[in-house]
Amino acid sequence: MLKTQGYAAPVAKAPLAVHSFKRREPRENDVVVEIQYCGICHSDIHQVRDEWGEGIFPMVPGHEITGIVTTTGSKVTKYKVGDKVGVGVFVDSCRACKQCKNGLEQYCTEGFVGTYNGREYDGTPTIGGYSDKIVVDENYVFRIPNNLPLQGAAPLLCAGITTYSPLLHWHAASGMNIAIIGLGGLGHMGVKFAHALGAEVTVLSHSLNKQADGNRLGADQFYATSDRATFKKLRGTFDLMINTVSADIDWNQYLKLLKVDGTMVVVGLPEKQVSISASTLVDGRRSIAGSMIGSLQETQQMLDFCGEHNIVCDVEMVNIQDVNAAYERVLKSDVKYRFVIDMASLKS
Ligand code: NAP
Ligand code: ZN
Ligand code: ZN
Repeated sequence: MLKTQGYAAPVAKAPLAVHSFKRREPRENDVVVEIQYCGICHSDIHQVRDEWGEGIFPMVPGHEITGIVTTTGSKVTKYKVGDKVGVGVFVDSCRACKQCKNGLEQYCTEGFVGTYNGREYDGTPTIGGYSDKIVVDENYVFRIPNNLPLQGAAPLLCAGITTYSPLLHWHAASGMNIAIIGLGGLGHMGVKFAHALGAEVTVLSHSLNKQADGNRLGADQFYATSDRATFKKLRGTFDLMINTVSADIDWNQYLKLLKVDGTMVVVGLPEKQVSISASTLVDGRRSIAGSMIGSLQETQQMLDFCGEHNIVCDVEMVNIQDVNAAYERVLKSDVKYRFVIDMASLKS
């Protein structure tokens, strides 16, 4: 077994603290990745606080991982020692169901194996990326383009793919009017991708505080949702809206901003259920849809797209000792635009 050092929440809602544990010896298809950086996703906070229920504790969160391959199993063909790689939200799937066979592993019928707060198919709990190394089957590892810095690339593994996938699925392109709701970790990547794909991009944020950043990231328009006039002015404007908000908001107000046949894709995962008015959908043949991360192939495609267009996340580096304070700032929407843990700080 491999001795591993990380940070864990010992029980639900508790602050994270130093935690030592063991990972499996690499199997023939596994690579061992020395973790250099790990992004802080809002999903880490939801799960540490057990907002989605059934959390497995102690919990080492982290599913926006970048690092370097240090060991390869005997049958590994895709990677060699020294390669720059990433690990995202899941580390295995059943590989046999219709979804897995069709390259939609994120919707695996058996349920994918989450990078943390999940269980391997033999029942072993999985342990995430706020740690110094991880052992993963090479088929669930991604290649990071050489020109991308590993700090800025780390959040691509969740925030990046979660916004890239619906933009592609709903055919984001020039001539489309797209709104990104919430300018946080996911939202800022949504703006960058929608802009790179040629769409007209509008940010709908709590306030105008982030307006200059929004424009720099590629937004053409920026509106505050705290201003009631925004909802009047933008009625019937958008072909597509990507809703990244982590908190409970009234989706009905936002649905009215869609054109006829427009779609609001929900990617944010607030704690409570939301009620939708049927008449808002009916009046305008509007759709509401959901989307979860992206597939293996799509994630590699997104990373390669980022390599070609020189796209990375805007990150604020933190030492792991400051992770609890960073969580508080994420909850206040005070992050520009993703915290990334420098894993070298584990040794200090
Ligand atoms: P984040 O960085 O905290 O961003 C969320 C943004 O939502 C904030 O920056 C803020 O934007 C807005 N917001 C927060 N509280 C609000 C409120 N009370 N009213 C209105 N707007 C509010 O979080 P994230 O990491 O991007 O994650 C966003 C959500 O997506 C989380 O629920 C996370 O669990 C979920 N998620 C889903 C997937 C998936 O596969 N579907 C993957 C990853 C994450 P403004 O300041 O601009 O208003
Ligand atoms: Zn995430
Ligand atoms: Zn499957």
